[in-house]
Amino acid sequence: MLKYRCPNNRQEVTTSIKTDEVVLLEMRSLKLSLWCPHCGSSHQVKASEAYVE
Ligand SMILES: [Zn+2]
Repeated sequence: MLKYRCPNNRQEVTTSIKTDEVVLLEMRSLKLSLWCPHCGSSHQVKASEAYVE
């Protein structure tokens, strides 16, 4: 699953997006709109700031 860190409180967020490293590299320049359970809203997250565990 794709993860990112919330820009507001640095909490780790696990998204429901399944991806792998290759796909992540291909979409590095994209911005994803990802829901954040910590803030109760969504964040614009660059794919380059997201990661796969
Ligand atoms: Zn957040």
